[in-house]
Amino acid sequence: MSENFIDIKNISRHFGSVKAVDNVSFSIKQGEFFSLLGPSGCGKTTLLRLLAGFESANQGEIFIDGMDVTTMPPNLRPTNMVFQNYAIFPHINVKKNIEFGMRKEKLSKQELDDRVQEVLSLVKLEGYEERFSNQLSGGQRQRIALARALIKRPKVLLLDEPLGALDKKLRDEMQIELRNLQKAVGITFVFVTHDQGESISMSDRVAVMNDGQIQQISDPHDLYYNPQNIFVSDFIGTTNFLSSSTGASNGEEIMVKIESIGEFSIRNKLNISENNSDTVCSIRPEAITLSPTPIEKGDITLEGKIENSSYYGELTSFYVKIDGAEKPLIASSQRFDNNSFQDNKCYLSINFEDINLLKKE
Ligand code: ATP
Repeated sequence: MSENFIDIKNISRHFGSVKAVDNVSFSIKQGEFFSLLGPSGCGKTTLLRLLAGFESANQGEIFIDGMDVTTMPPNLRPTNMVFQNYAIFPHINVKKNIEFGMRKEKLSKQELDDRVQEVLSLVKLEGYEERFSNQLSGGQRQRIALARALIKRPKVLLLDEPLGALDKKLRDEMQIELRNLQKAVGITFVFVTHDQGESISMSDRVAVMNDGQIQQISDPHDLYYNPQNIFVSDFIGTTNFLSSSTGASNGEEIMVKIESIGEFSIRNKLNISENNSDTVCSIRPEAITLSPTPIEKGDITLEGKIENSSYYGELTSFYVKIDGAEKPLIASSQRFDNNSFQDNKCYLSINFEDINLLKKE
């Protein structure tokens, strides 16, 4: 992948006092599956529309494949957009829907037919040419919308919550198909979603947004295991936040104290200052080992009482009270369920490497 295929430099889009996109800069590589992830209203759709040319920037520049597109109209940009609500015309068949955006391209009938077959094959809907929108399932309609965007052979495909209208099972299937399709065509995908699971499972890299700004850009693994701040840690998955204070540091590691849990030395990945009483430790529920019998292994071992539990089929989340701790710890287990513990007594263990030290915001 070559660097900086899309270059976004100090881009802002304000609507009155609302800073929808606020001085954002980052790059996307060629052939990358790149997601913009964040809560409703964080500015991800506005940023996508700025890339498409449907919004104009108050400041900043956008380059795609070395070309300054900042003020270029959408139809001249090497981009195409797929929307959540498909926008398939009901009165014309699939073939005509797919051909629709090609009217101005001077292709022979044969060339156009070949291109339609090519994209229908990509979205695995060969033979559906004559169908109308009401004869297609939601997933098939979305594939037609993809085919219609792909037939123009854009350098960048912009996708605005394209799976949002599908039910969970179909959505899961389409996630895999979309990822396979992206690999097959090698086009750069910029994908907007508010669903953290979706972005993590599909993307090469994810930009987490909040309040018009980028909080972190990382690959999915790093985003989950090395969040840069409390917002990202909280937005991606479930975690335990425990108030903590720091002591002395030797550069690599720092002393941390969590009330009723312990005092220990852990890696200081984010260079948090020494003797700082305003810090938080984040520990994922699956990083806490839970057992009905005492645990020998583990850097920190604790005893607790199960206060509550939620069963999710593949795992159970337990809310465990530790004497003196500020709130119950959430620990998840695939192995044990509610009946595994006598008098709700349980034992926990945590490894230092699973504790992320963050600054309070
Ligand atoms: P969602 O997931 O709900 O679609 P989003 O992250 O895509 O949210 P945007 O649609 O980009 O968010 O909106 C960002 C902010 O800009 C919001 O506060 C929104 O109300 C505001 N906004 C977006 N478009 C306009 C507009 N045309 N006029 C005024 N405000 C707007």
